Amino acid sequence: MDCIFCKIIKGEIKSEILYETNDFIVINDISHMANKHYLIIPKKHFAYLNEVDEEKSKIIANIMLNMNDIEKALKLEEGYRLVINQRSNAGQTVNHLHMHILGGEKLSDKFN
Ligand code: AMP
Ligand code: ZN
Repeated sequence: MDCIFCKIIKGEIKSEILYETNDFIVINDISHMANKHYLIIPKKHFAYLNEVDEEKSKIIANIMLNMNDIEKALKLEEGYRLVINQRSNAGQTVNHLHMHILGGEKLSDKFN
């Protein structure tokens, strides 16, 4: 499958892994939209939230269960925003579900 995030997970495209569990990795976004911009990427390929079933919901839950640790590892104590873009209206460009972590500065009140 020609998926950039699957290639990063397989090590076919180099990216420094900042945090990792059995279910997901956290990397730096190559194009920062904030001072700190990370991506949380499930290791299992799926594109959209409407595909979430029991198994995938556990992956999402495990991400949430690790947020305390991730905040500390990435020094996000002052706050951050989690964003999941879905399809064209949200500007999703990589069709492998991922969460953006935006932080490292006071973020705009708007979501645009
Ligand atoms: P989205 O627009 O929500 O699909 O987000 C995809 C994100 O992946 C964008 O913010 C890109 O900058 C980021 N991205 C694309 N290729 C890479 C890569 N090789 N390493 C890190 N981030 C990437
Ligand atoms: Zn993928």
